[in-house]
Amino acid sequence: MKFSRMFIPTTKETPKDASLPSHQYLVRGGYVNQVGAGIYNFMPLGKIVLDKIRSVVKSELDDAGCNEVQLGFVTPLELWKQSGRATKMGLEMLRIKDRKNGEFVLSPTNEEAMVDMVKNRVTSYKDLPINLYQINTKFRDEARPRFGLLRGREFLMKDGYSFHESEEDMIREFHLMEETYKKIFTRLGLDFRVVDADSGAIGGTGSKEFHVLAQSGEDTIVVCKSCEYGANIEAATRQPKEVKGKREKGKEKVLTPDVTSIEDVSKFLDVEPSQTIKAVIKKAVYEETQKVVVFFVRGDDELEETKATNAVNALELVDASEDDIQDAGLKAGYVGMFGLPKDIVFVVDNELKDEDNLICGANEENYHLTGVDLKDLSDVKYDDLIAVQEGDKCSCCGGELIHTKGIEVGHIFQLGTRYSASMNANFLDRNGKTQPFIMGTYGIGVSRLISAIIEQHHDEKGILWTKESTPFMVDVIVSNAKNEDELNFANEIYETLKKYKVEAILDDRVDARYGFKMGDFELLGFPYGVIIGKKLVDGLVEIVDRKTLEKFEIKKEELVGKILEMIG
Ligand code: ATP
Ligand code: MG
Repeated sequence: MKFSRMFIPTTKETPKDASLPSHQYLVRGGYVNQVGAGIYNFMPLGKIVLDKIRSVVKSELDDAGCNEVQLGFVTPLELWKQSGRATKMGLEMLRIKDRKNGEFVLSPTNEEAMVDMVKNRVTSYKDLPINLYQINTKFRDEARPRFGLLRGREFLMKDGYSFHESEEDMIREFHLMEETYKKIFTRLGLDFRVVDADSGAIGGTGSKEFHVLAQSGEDTIVVCKSCEYGANIEAATRQPKEVKGKREKGKEKVLTPDVTSIEDVSKFLDVEPSQTIKAVIKKAVYEETQKVVVFFVRGDDELEETKATNAVNALELVDASEDDIQDAGLKAGYVGMFGLPKDIVFVVDNELKDEDNLICGANEENYHLTGVDLKDLSDVKYDDLIAVQEGDKCSCCGGELIHTKGIEVGHIFQLGTRYSASMNANFLDRNGKTQPFIMGTYGIGVSRLISAIIEQHHDEKGILWTKESTPFMVDVIVSNAKNEDELNFANEIYETLKKYKVEAILDDRVDARYGFKMGDFELLGFPYGVIIGKKLVDGLVEIVDRKTLEKFEIKKEELVGKILEMIG
């Protein structure tokens, strides 16, 4: 491809809201342009990268025996009613009406449509297993679209769905997909971690996420310094914390005027925060109702919101207002598990089970209870509610846990019969019995990957594409395109590289100066540059490595051989 014929509108302007390098460079490099909140066009270079990533994903999936299909982007709401998700999906799912008042949605994911495709077409265990996938546009009306392609509203996702006759076979496929995803992310040159994950609203049991490690990642990942353990903070576990230095306190109701925070309580009663119980009041949102719920964790622990949401089976948790708290009969700052209003749902963290000699609110203004023994409470719902902190001990090996940041680029689920059962998608098993398909589901953020690659591979000048993601491997830069010898030789090199199947671009722009061309080379991030300049008369040209920006001279006859050797 020749620069002079290609639409690459590079610019020095950085969009105002672009805080991340990936967002800035994609726009400045003319890879993408924004048309609305979370909606992007892919310009020629962006489209090449997108297709390259897509083709890596496709080749590995096809190799693993998956079949590519393509579903309609618009799906009838009726399908979502069949699965029961029409009311569960919330505002992220955009609904539209056609001229006949028919209701549709812009697909945020496609479990329903894929089950519908297979239903009544696959009828026997003999036709199983199958794994169908598509690489197609998704729309999610994200509350806060941001960071360019990282959190768009319209984005490209690979979504795959597998169908099995047994749980065992689904788990086999789950492991195969884990291995396949590892191959994909390795080929793309990414430093990533596979971690345990929360299964969220899609439902299901086992689930793993693939995270590209990057400081700008929105997810907190807990990893062990000593073993392979890794989990999203939403699902991370730890060895129960050992609590030291507990002071004996009698069972008493004590006056604690204006003492409401954990810090104040522990100071006032001269105990460690770990001896107190923290009450976190939230409003749980359900399909039809909302109600105030209370979570109890140790004073020096923090509530993990996703775990808490799952513990009360809510769609989401939102902050409870002062009025909500008052209307529920709760005394903010003095809430404890003994003597709560009867209709208040509460959950206690697992690690407090069997604990005694603790301190909590007395559910009465200005009072706390000391010497609290949780065994005195019956019918308590215990669950894992806490956010694992740095320095906590690994539940696998006792090693030290630390936090790191990740960008979620893939997610695989063991789904089970959640959709096949509700949508009546069945097959005849080996005993002639009708059974719902056992399913797995597997996603990759294809457009998000573009940004993730840049977040991990860039410098202060621009992008550093990895070999399988770069739009071009070599940029043949003609220092002065008005000089015919330079231009002719560059052309020759460009044609020879193409013959060797090296993806090359020829920067033959007549009206762009050398410095400007180098600026574009640095910004655009192609791995190697060849500079054809004044020394051509002496038979010399230069090669520049984008990563190090180191240049070296080479005889013009040796150029192609050297390039072939460098790109391997
Ligand atoms: P997140 O927690 O980041 O919102 P998710 O858990 O909602 O992601 P999934 O439903 O598992 O995502 O979707 C599969 C993949 O699609 C994700 O792993 C991610 O890479 C990608 N993805 C999800 N939402 C977006 C988005 N708004 N923009 C770009 N890619 C996305
Ligand atoms: Mg999401």
